[in-house]
Amino acid sequence: MRWDDFRTSDNVEDRRGLPVPGGARGLGIGTIIILGLIGWALGIDPRLLIGGAEMFQQQSGGYEQQQGKTGAPQDQMGRFASAILGNTEDVWKETLPQQTNRQYQAPRLVIFSGATRSACGYAQSAMGPFYCPNDQTVYLDLSFFQDMQTRFRAGGDFAYAYVIAHEIGHHVENQLGILSRAQARQREVGQPEANQISVRIELMADCLAGVWAHHSQQRWNALEEGDVEKAIAAAQAIGDDRLQRQTQGTVIPDSFTHGTSEQRTRWLMTGLKTGQVQACDTFRASKL
Ligand SMILES: [Zn+2]
Repeated sequence: MRWDDFRTSDNVEDRRGLPVPGGARGLGIGTIIILGLIGWALGIDPRLLIGGAEMFQQQSGGYEQQQGKTGAPQDQMGRFASAILGNTEDVWKETLPQQTNRQYQAPRLVIFSGATRSACGYAQSAMGPFYCPNDQTVYLDLSFFQDMQTRFRAGGDFAYAYVIAHEIGHHVENQLGILSRAQARQREVGQPEANQISVRIELMADCLAGVWAHHSQQRWNALEEGDVEKAIAAAQAIGDDRLQRQTQGTVIPDSFTHGTSEQRTRWLMTGLKTGQVQACDTFRASKL
């Protein structure tokens, strides 16, 4: 992927290297990495949607709010993340009003290492990247990308861009009022149905990531041969079925919160091919 032409976004706060606000100590780094990959793929962000604050009790310690450096970072990976963010801003600022009649308000991106605070509670690398609707911010530890490469062999710029674009997809869902509706519904139903709603939310975010890639490609032509395959490999590696098989040996569809490898790939491709937000309506789809 050639992302040099992308405008880097200033909506980035770099908290790397700031003191870690308690809690992450005691866990080995290996444990944290594995938990991070599983957490991202098995639905930590849906849990944040359901009950944000309650899952991280230890936040009541009252640390100072960390204030990082704002603006695009200078290092390669930091610049990459703010370039992808900038490109999603440029695409969605045009596409969202065109297709849905709503203005796009750009979210923020916090890059951190280890752990940090969010309006959805205490965030640590172990959770993987996530979007917090309460402060409209994506939280990302860039070491997640190395882990994708080394543990899942699902590396490559476009695969990493897809991860960021997926989180931005949740922001688009938030802007469209879909997140809050889904959240309200999840509070009313039992766990299997709540998981079903999570799957729809996640597959929609995959599809919206595809919509971004579609329009980005039309205007910037940044994709190179093999890029799409790499994103598909990532989507497959982090499907619930694949991860469950790897971590517990069996597959329990009711506990899926992100969708199977096949579903994640198919919805990503739906967005990528059509470029249409409407084509991503997983709540109306007859087949998920
Ligand atoms: Zn997600």
